[in-house]
Amino acid sequence: MRMCLTSDIGGYYSGAIPEDRDQFGLKGDFVTSPEISQVFGELIGIWFVAEWIAQGRPSRGVELIEVGPGRGTLMNDILRTIRSFPAMADSIDAIYMVEASRELRATQKNLLCGDDAPMTESKVGYHSICRNTSLPIVWTETIKSIPIVPEKMPFIVAHEFFDALPIHAFECIEVPPNQDAARSDADKSSPSTRTTKPTLQWREMLVSPTPPGSTHDSLRTPPSQSRETPPPDFQLTLAQAATRHSMYLPESSPRYRAIKSRTGVGALLEVCPDAALYASDFAARIGGSAQHPKAKPSGAALILDYGPGDGTVPTNTLRGIRRHRRVSPFAEPGLTDLSADVDFAAIAEASMRASEGIEVHGPVDQAAFLEAMGIRERAEILIKSLAGAVGNSPDSPAGDATAVADDACDKREAAAADIERAWKRLVDRGPGGMGKVYKALAILPENDGRRRPVGFGGAVVA
Ligand code: SAH
Repeated sequence: MRMCLTSDIGGYYSGAIPEDRDQFGLKGDFVTSPEISQVFGELIGIWFVAEWIAQGRPSRGVELIEVGPGRGTLMNDILRTIRSFPAMADSIDAIYMVEASRELRATQKNLLCGDDAPMTESKVGYHSICRNTSLPIVWTETIKSIPIVPEKMPFIVAHEFFDALPIHAFECIEVPPNQDAARSDADKSSPSTRTTKPTLQWREMLVSPTPPGSTHDSLRTPPSQSRETPPPDFQLTLAQAATRHSMYLPESSPRYRAIKSRTGVGALLEVCPDAALYASDFAARIGGSAQHPKAKPSGAALILDYGPGDGTVPTNTLRGIRRHRRVSPFAEPGLTDLSADVDFAAIAEASMRASEGIEVHGPVDQAAFLEAMGIRERAEILIKSLAGAVGNSPDSPAGDATAVADDACDKREAAAADIERAWKRLVDRGPGGMGKVYKALAILPENDGRRRPVGFGGAVVA
């Protein structure tokens, strides 16, 4: 999954798809919320402003960090919003963008800094200056490259980032007595590892090549997947023996152990170790950790993505997307977007394990979050502001005045309908609707649960 998405030799985000094709948008493969409506990024900007206010309006030391920024649209909308709050804008020291793709780093730089702005390289990453705020922007390939400084107040956003991190999938099987499946053949002579009763063990699903000459029919491509891609080059097979990952990952949480004892043979799980690494990193930046003690926890992380909101562990969720349709994740590696459901409960667990200085709120449905943040009210204001924006042209000859007025009116109505359609799509609670499928989770400085953040049941506190 990592190779297919971000490898140097051409992953989906790192150069495999032709230059005239884009991942995002109607002509690309998928559309994301910041690309649907500017209101999405504006409300996230407001969320950070509300946190900055609630955490004492510091005059400096704020860092904005986005992981997986795509085209840069979300950060652009966040920055435009924060500029309306000059005291917060002045408190920002730097903006960090964690982006594995060289191509997308360039797209983001062009949007935020201008096509002509130079990008210089240092040991930390790539640097340029934001054209609207004059703030330094630093691009890194992983969050580990961003220094952890306890005095800083990090505001971190991850939108549709965690779903792109590689997962491991496991199935629970019964191993007969006297068969030691957890060791390689060479180790089997050791009597101490033999079992006398059948035992339940996790086995990893591995990606294996399909037999030559395979077709969609022979591979039984499910009807839920479009057959527009060639027959898959790879398929999932169950490992014959334990793997490094199957011995460790499914034993790493009481949630997984409970599934093993409750469901037994046939139980499935997906585990995303990178998600735990990123969550732990966010938590350490906000709340401090043994390695990076922080006298006063500060900052916030907002994670928006899709996945179960009720604590269930995702199973069978690896998917391929091409031109807005589900395709096999195993056909034409590098040309197909891959993603998997995000396990929000695992993110919460990893962050709480990493830092005693944080607390987690949510996940809540995106619809509830955006409505509490005022999506309807903001869209109404945008629609009202159209009245002044699409006016008559002063250069029109007098005789054309009525036609021009009609034309302006049509344009206004079309623009209003676009705004209306877009925000409603973000909060759609119907089956498969974005308002229900997407969730928001927040990591905040620990405060004994006394203050809930805005959008998660709390109000603005000054
Ligand atoms: N947040 C954007 C883009 C989502 S697509 C939006 O909502 O529109 C996922 C983004 O994460 C892309 O920018 C991709 O290049 C980046 N990405 C994926 N895997 C990554 C990894 N392991 N490290 C850093 N960036 C990654």
